[in-house]
Amino acid sequence: MKVSLAALLAVSGLLANAQDAASAGGPGRPPLKPLVVPKALEDSINRRNLLKHAHQFLDFSKLSNNTRAFGSKGHQATLQYIKRLLDQTGAYDIEFEKFTYAYSEATSQLYVDGESYPTKGVGYSPSGNITAPLAVVNNLGCEASDFPEAVKGQIALVQRGTCQLGLKVAFAGAAGAVGTIIYNNIDAEPISGTLGAPNRPEGPYVPVAYISGLNGKAFIASIAEGNEVVANIRVQSFVEDRETSNVIATTKTGDRNNLIVAGAHSDSVPAGPGLNDDGSGSMGILEVALRLARYRVKNAVRFIWWSAEEFGLIGSEYHVEHLSDEDRQKVALYLNFDMIASPNSGYFVFDGDGDATDIPGPPGSEVIEQLYRAYFDSHNIRTGSAVFGGSSDYQPFVDVGIPSGGLMTGASGTKTAEGAEWWGGVAGVAYDVCYHLACDVVENLNVDVWERNSKAIAHSVASYALSIEGIPREQRPPVRSLRVSKLSYEERLHLSCDHDDDII
Ligand SMILES: [Zn+2]
Repeated sequence: MKVSLAALLAVSGLLANAQDAASAGGPGRPPLKPLVVPKALEDSINRRNLLKHAHQFLDFSKLSNNTRAFGSKGHQATLQYIKRLLDQTGAYDIEFEKFTYAYSEATSQLYVDGESYPTKGVGYSPSGNITAPLAVVNNLGCEASDFPEAVKGQIALVQRGTCQLGLKVAFAGAAGAVGTIIYNNIDAEPISGTLGAPNRPEGPYVPVAYISGLNGKAFIASIAEGNEVVANIRVQSFVEDRETSNVIATTKTGDRNNLIVAGAHSDSVPAGPGLNDDGSGSMGILEVALRLARYRVKNAVRFIWWSAEEFGLIGSEYHVEHLSDEDRQKVALYLNFDMIASPNSGYFVFDGDGDATDIPGPPGSEVIEQLYRAYFDSHNIRTGSAVFGGSSDYQPFVDVGIPSGGLMTGASGTKTAEGAEWWGGVAGVAYDVCYHLACDVVENLNVDVWERNSKAIAHSVASYALSIEGIPREQRPPVRSLRVSKLSYEERLHLSCDHDDDII
């Protein structure tokens, strides 16, 4: 290319001006890149590059005990990797949006009569090793009066539900209990738990173990028969403030008054390396960003890797909360990609018009939904609907009226018979059996689905980078507060990536 251009210029006798002439972008500016072509960008996405990132992400998790939880070494390495690759393209302005949040991790054990019972640790629980009889708490333990005299010096046994775990445990501490066992309000094991904050005014926390509903009911039945049930709970926990960052990369070309924002969360749960959740989305948008760097865009594209999503959409909420009203108006639309390579995948498109889920996104979201439906239709792929239920980083954008959309392939929900017919895989099995577990590794990724969804990201990003026709751009009303930020910590945690009821 260079040679032929020089030859051509030599023939024209303009060799002395070759430097300037090559700068089609104008004197002193770099040569103008070609305008992005959606099909070309899509075609440049391939599984080989995606898998290269995947092995890197897995390696990063090994720096911190197989996790990329926010603020861990594995997570920091993830952010540096993203930054380094984007820096090399020279096509982006990159910013680290810093914030601090209290990280907590807890493990627990429960023994009764020498037998061990499965438990989940509860974040912000104090550490301890306590042996005492169980005392059953009345109702759901959401009132101080639910805790009888008998809990004094004993371990309070209380059901999950209605109010925060933290409130139940603080009341137990105030009533003189030496520990608390919370049992699930369904028979199954709890997925995760937290007291929601390092402390609270209703009373002091005591060590907590969180068990299945089945075992909780068995203890209550035994106590009802007049038995004394003596339990030993052992808790190891820690809490620390961690500084972390959202990574924000904005194309140097394009109109920043019409920003196309695409996001995925960079952190995993503490329990595992999070290759699907949400390595898949993070690497999907990374690969699209790297390929997009070769092109010029009309509307600026901003890729954002959110931090601390798994602790309750903390990074995305921080970002949207700190957008000035003016900057909020500049965001034309938001696209979210959280889990796009589930091993027993479905293809779910966010239900912008609300016709499948009764929860429409802000006006314009139906346009985004249509773009993705049309894309998958053109590849003869059936699509299901994902609901704007607050379980990922789209929610703060939805809350402030920004048209939103995105893709996901399912979490702990179960694939239906119809789903298996549409997409293959196994009916009656979770979309992702390794959801929030240590086994969310490279082998957990459905690479066919991941590649297809990453191509869909490329198609959508390139299309909107050229035109946002159909997306309303009139002034949005001012926003006073975000819905998610009003929720309790436990409610927020329950939302994050807890996709059980997320899809239709
Ligand atoms: Zn996620």
